[in-house]
Amino acid sequence: MRIDNEPKLDYDDVLIRPKRSEAPSRSTIKLERKYRFLNSKTTWSGIPIVASNMDTTGSFEMAAALGPQMMTCIHKHYSNEDLLNFFGSEEHQACAFFTIGIGDGDFAKLREIKEHVPVQYVCVDVANGYTEYFIDRIMRLRQSYPKITIMAGNVATPEMVQELLITGAADIIKVGIGPGSVCTTRMKTGVGYPQLSAIIECADAAHGLKGHVCADGGCRTPGDIVKALAAGADFVMLGGMLAGHDECQAEWIEENGQRVAMKFYGMSSKTAMDKYTGGMKDYRAAEGTDSIILYKGPVSNTLQDICGGVRSACAYVGATSLKDLSKCTTFVRRA
Ligand code: 5GP
Repeated sequence: MRIDNEPKLDYDDVLIRPKRSEAPSRSTIKLERKYRFLNSKTTWSGIPIVASNMDTTGSFEMAAALGPQMMTCIHKHYSNEDLLNFFGSEEHQACAFFTIGIGDGDFAKLREIKEHVPVQYVCVDVANGYTEYFIDRIMRLRQSYPKITIMAGNVATPEMVQELLITGAADIIKVGIGPGSVCTTRMKTGVGYPQLSAIIECADAAHGLKGHVCADGGCRTPGDIVKALAAGADFVMLGGMLAGHDECQAEWIEENGQRVAMKFYGMSSKTAMDKYTGGMKDYRAAEGTDSIILYKGPVSNTLQDICGGVRSACAYVGATSLKDLSKCTTFVRRA
């Protein structure tokens, strides 16, 4: 057994130091980023916010609202017919990831859809990205489809980021073990990594190889999103912050015919397992919980709030574009 005594930080442990600068006007601050991906050699440009592939937030409606500038990971519980219709439409191609796990059924599903319509972005999502089997599957996916953009995770440490980029030939590594709003991994298993430090360390490893990272989980406010981007995240994935909106595929709680709240639950919760896998296997514990999110109206309001927060943060530190935010950032630790 070893103890790592280096302090590791979460979003709440830091603030961003304001800096004297010729503050650029907020209206001119550019939030669009342009990336060239390491292994697919494809390029992407847009605002690097991604809706999580949870069954509530990874909906077709969310993709329509976030696109074309922001991305959505479409959840994997849609029927093949619905996925064919969606991915067959050109306007959705560039702003949506096709999500799979690592089972044979997942690969067969992707193959079947790809035979009929082009799928450019694939998100391979597993709770534990530390298994050899996971890397093998990503390698196989790359061999089958050299030009697709692969986002893979989740991991939280740099050696695994490097391995997935080099051996697995993924393009974007999803970072986050345990920070999610409805995640109970830390409580159930004791495993995890404070998210801000995970991003800093993983982004550093990825950028050294010209790869990219997506910070996944734990953002509760626009300020947390700013901190993730300032820490080096190339993309930020959101679940809970996008829940509660009209675009969610959700069970709504209504009063007098009006939406007041929606049910939101982890994809490894008992609720999700009962819904999709016929209940929980007796050898495992649920690593997700249920919550209720108050109704927030259309997602466009929240997106405006997020973009406004990021622009304002850039102005505070003297960054003229999101690209410069990280370079211009000094984090200060709270006492
Ligand atoms: P949030 O933005 O809500 O804080 O976090 C969203 C992320 O939490 C998702 O993208 C996913 O990575 C993670 N997540 C979703 N459901 C579960 C779950 O049941 N268990 C765990 N450990 N993580 C989850």
